[in-house]
Amino acid sequence: MNYISTRGAGIGERHTFSDILLGGLAKDGGLYLPGEYPQVSADELARWRTLPYADLAFEILRKFSDDIPAEDLRELTRRTYTAQVYCNVRDEENAAQITPLKTLGVEDGAPLSLLELSNGPTLAFKDMAMQLLGNLFEYTLARHGETLNILGATSGDTGSAAEYAMRGKKGIRVFMLSPHKKMSAFQTAQMYSLQDPNIFNVAIDGVFDDCQDIVKAVSNDHAFKAQQKIGTVNSINWARVVAQVVYYFKGYFAATKRNDERVSFTVPSGNFGNVCAGHIARMMGLPIEKLVVATNENDVLDEFFRTGIYRVRKSSETYHTSSPSMDISKASNFERFVFDLLGRDPKRVLQLFRDVEEKSGFDLQASGDFARVQEFGFVSGRSSHDDRVETIRDVFQRYDTMIDTHTADGVKVAREHLQAGIPMIVLETAQPIKFGETIREALEREPERPAAFSGIEDLPQRFEVLPNDAQRVKDFVAAHTGA
Ligand SMILES: *Cc1c(COP(=O)(O)O)cnc(C)c1O
Repeated sequence: MNYISTRGAGIGERHTFSDILLGGLAKDGGLYLPGEYPQVSADELARWRTLPYADLAFEILRKFSDDIPAEDLRELTRRTYTAQVYCNVRDEENAAQITPLKTLGVEDGAPLSLLELSNGPTLAFKDMAMQLLGNLFEYTLARHGETLNILGATSGDTGSAAEYAMRGKKGIRVFMLSPHKKMSAFQTAQMYSLQDPNIFNVAIDGVFDDCQDIVKAVSNDHAFKAQQKIGTVNSINWARVVAQVVYYFKGYFAATKRNDERVSFTVPSGNFGNVCAGHIARMMGLPIEKLVVATNENDVLDEFFRTGIYRVRKSSETYHTSSPSMDISKASNFERFVFDLLGRDPKRVLQLFRDVEEKSGFDLQASGDFARVQEFGFVSGRSSHDDRVETIRDVFQRYDTMIDTHTADGVKVAREHLQAGIPMIVLETAQPIKFGETIREALEREPERPAAFSGIEDLPQRFEVLPNDAQRVKDFVAAHTGA
């Protein structure tokens, strides 16, 4: 398997899965994609239907990472996708399934269900990929005798998923910046209660944007970055995307009886990582009818899939909503889909994303490319705070099921795209406890709390408060890496 950049640099060079695993953007600023998508045969699909999650993950990942010895990859997936790691199930009987499918009911002739992706250690779907990444990083670093210091900024979700994935891993340290006293008590407890010596929580006297600016400033100091072996785990990481392909197959098998049936997926979307994985599953041959992109008030993606116009927002136009993990001004993985949409023409991708930088967007309506969006199965919709509250209430009353705000955006938009006879699977991206305020508003009761999290706010916390100053963060990193 060879990987190429969406902007065309390095054509003719070879990049294996391991080569791009620890990196971010390609040299030319593009994103990596496989030279071609591996195809799944009818025989494979039949054989995979009954596999446990870890073995399904092995079969799929193997097609993308032939440079990792098969027995090693099998060991990695079996170690990652266990009932112990994904133990926060709402129904004990489902513990072994990793991503159980919860059937709600039939609406407009379409069976409607939730694919639970948030039973991992931080109760959000990011664990699905990040847990694998932790094991893959540790494995690859050990093979090359290297170490890595991950520097990141978080307003809650991504940071905790990264810390829980990397805790205790050999050769890896995590320095995670978060805004001091700006996260919910639950989120703060989740991150700061970690006592592992390789995890450093740095509370910055400032807001989330300040944390991000510090990460940028440190990353732009190339000498420091190289000397301290600084890396990141952001959402454009290819291994994260490909790990998410697995649960589209798992969800398909759970919702169907035979491999000639079609299903649709609705994906609560922000940076387009999750639904990009659905697109890849479809390109591999999984019989997906529609990929429904659900956004909140930050509707960059919904606007594109309705009009063909991609218009990046300014930060003043980016709203803080009650589904905060979807509050984005541009979708960092979107370029991967645009590359496929344009028939994999890197010159045009380069031009379009120059336009994004210079004119903050582009329009594919006029060129006729937008018409092809339908061939790829994409449709979309958006949701508001009132829609979320109403949907949480409705799903609770009708189906006795408590859903979080992001999943509520998904259910709201899914209902606008139901087709009789075609199962609609909404990806459940977080558990309600993470967004308790809106649950209380909608249901006038406390969100359900998995047993493992009772009293988490009372645990001792380990963190360092630093001023909003990149130099002080650099000093802190250097003091703890000994380099
Ligand atoms: C990250 C996140 C999303 C958005 O996923 P993308 O891959 O960025 O599109 C949706 N819901 C939750 C709860 C998340 O944490």
